[in-house]
Order: sequence, then C-alpha cells, then structure tokens
Amino acid sequence: MPSSTGYAALGAELPLAPFHFNRRSPGPSEIAVEILYCGICHTDLHQVRNEWGVSRYPMVPGHEIVGRVTAAGGAVTKFKPGQIAAIGVIVDSCRKCAPCKRGEEHYCDEGMTDTYNGVDRVDGSITMGGYSDSYVVDERFAHTVPDNLDLAGVAPLLCAGITTYSPLRHWKVGPGMKVGIVGLGGLGHMALKFAHAFGAHAVQFTTSPGKKEDAVHLGADEVVLSTDADAMKARTKTFDFILDTVSAPHALDPYLVLLKQDATMTLVGLPEKPPSFGMFNLITRRASIAGSMIGGTPETQEMLDYCGQHKITADVEVIPIQKVNEAFERLLKQDVKYRFVIDMSTLK
Ligand code: NAP
Ligand code: ZN
Repeated sequence: MPSSTGYAALGAELPLAPFHFNRRSPGPSEIAVEILYCGICHTDLHQVRNEWGVSRYPMVPGHEIVGRVTAAGGAVTKFKPGQIAAIGVIVDSCRKCAPCKRGEEHYCDEGMTDTYNGVDRVDGSITMGGYSDSYVVDERFAHTVPDNLDLAGVAPLLCAGITTYSPLRHWKVGPGMKVGIVGLGGLGHMALKFAHAFGAHAVQFTTSPGKKEDAVHLGADEVVLSTDADAMKARTKTFDFILDTVSAPHALDPYLVLLKQDATMTLVGLPEKPPSFGMFNLITRRASIAGSMIGGTPETQEMLDYCGQHKITADVEVIPIQKVNEAFERLLKQDVKYRFVIDMSTLK
C-alpha cells in the first residue's frame, strides 16, 4: 500500500498535526491523485471540533481538492496520468438507487460516502481527506478542470462553489429576481458571484461592516448590514429567494419577513444548534424554508465548466499547511477573504 502524509486531528480539542497513513492502490475504475491544493471549508472546523457529534479520529479533513493524476486503472476513460482532476465532498454512493441514477449521488438512498470521516465502500476504512499529499477515487467522483482557471482558486469550487450553484439553479435564480445572500464567507462569496453571473439583482447581507466594499466588487447590487434594523425593515416582502450560508446560530425571522409571498429561504449553513423561527412569518406569506446539500457529479462538472466559460474562481488566501490551525482560528473570527487554500507542496 502506498503511504500518505497529511495533517490530522487526533481529538476534538487538539490542534491538527502531521500524520502518516496508508491509501489503497487504485482499482480498475479509480485514479490516484497527487494533491496540489485543498480549500479549508467551515465544515472542516465543525467536523474537527465534533460540533455535529459524528466525528471519528484520527481525522484528516479536506474536501475541496485539486490535484494531478499520478495513476489510472485500466478501465478509466476520463483521465490520463499528468492531467488535473478535482475532488469534492462526495467520493462514492450506492450508484443504483433513483437519486444515484439521476446523478444526484449526494442524495443516495443508502447515504453518500464522504471524502473524509466517511466509510470507504471498497475496504471499509475511514476515509481520509485532502489535507494530505494524495487521494484515490473512482473516476465518476472526480471532475475535469477547465484549463484557463487558477488552480488554487478552483479548489473551493468543489464545495463552496457547488453548494451555492446548485440551489441557485434549482430555484431558477436569474434576471428579474431579487436574491439575498446571507453571510459573506467561503460559501457566501461564491453565491454572490453566481447570483450576479446568473443576472439576478443580488443583495448581500453581512454582519461585518468591513466587507461592504468587497461585496460590491464581488457582484452585489446592494449590501445590507443585518444589524441595521431600518435597512432590514425597508426591504420587507421584496425578495424572491434568499440563500443563508451562515455557519453559526442566528435568527431566521429577520430574513423570513423579507420574503415575498410564495418565496423560499434556503439554508445551506450548518450551525451546531438547530434553527428556530416564528411560524407567523411563514404563514403570512406562504413562504418556504428549505435546505440543500452540495450537488451531484453531473452538476458539479456543469458548475466547473460554467466557471471556465465565465472565468469564475474563488478569492483565496493561499497558506502553507503549517498555518492550518491559525487559519481555523481566523475563520472563526470571520477573518478570511474569502477562502483559505492550502498549498500542498508545503507538506514536503
Ligand atoms: P465561513 O467562510 O466561515 O463563512 C460563514 C459566514 O457566516 C461568515 O463569514 C459570516 O459572514 C457569517 N457568520 C459567522 N458567524 C456569524 C454569526 N454569529 N452571526 C451571523 N453571521 C455569522 O463558512 P463557509 O465555509 O462558507 O460555510 C458556511 C456554512 O455552510 C458552514 O456551517 C458549513 O458547514 C456549511 N456548509 C454546508 C454545505 C452544504 O452542503 N449544505 C456545504 C459546505 C458548507 P459575515 O461576516 O458576512 O456576516
Ligand atoms: Zn465544504
């Protein structure tokens, strides 16, 4: 078995530290990838600190992976050694149920296999993620990358990108619609770029006054400080769709009242505590609260190709892996513009 190096959490209270483990050799339909870049998603922080109560240790986080193919099994058709490949949040599924057949493997009836902290369907081991030098994955769950994009800026597309692209497409966001994005972090800044690119009137809600100018550069038609009660009230019943990307517990009611009749607020953020909201804010406008998770393999490839056509990448701060614990602390302080990406060459 080839041995692999990465950074792992050995427990919820412990900092990430260098870690050695084994990756299995690629099977006939699998590729092995040398990881070049891996984004730091807030999910990595929730998981490392066991905020959802499902963490297994040792844990090598990371599910925003861009790398170079080093080996391809005999049945692989999509990749050749030397080519760039991208891997996101899902690395396997049952492949037989209705959602899998539709290409919505992330909603697999048997449950998807997570890139890390999941159970490998091939050998039963716990999956280890992208804060490491290599990955082995079935080619179905690896994506090709348009060759005009900066690879460090591509890595976050594999989670932050698809998690926001998918609901904006599902709820048919486009010209003539007023769309709110709540939270300007990794997911939020991608949502803003996509909402703008899709032609909607994009309104960014933020708790950080210092991000106002950036939001305009990222594509916001309006920026609203969610702490400004008058600015919030002035927008009552004017939104067709709101996408909430916030990572910490927060009130939903100030946003629900902004929805027009029959409009939807979709939550993608995963705070450690469940949300609560006033029922009257739903019934008085027949509004919906919905949820959405990443995206399936066809839509992830569609998103990457769209980004190639429209020259969209994440705004990133590239860090050496030795700064990963500092990056986690800065993420908690909302001190990132707008995604940390680990340069994996610093692992050597
Ligand atoms: P992030 O970069 O840390 O951004 C979160 C943003 O939320 C912050 O930048 C901040 O924006 C806002 N925020 C933070 N604390 C807040 C508070 N106490 N009150 C109000 N706003 C607050 O995180 P991310 O990587 O984008 O991830 C966001 C969430 O999505 C996480 O919970 C993550 O686990 C989840 N997620 C879900 C999926 C899915 O498939 N559904 C996929 C990936 C991630 P402002 O400074 O602008 O207020
Ligand atoms: Zn993620």
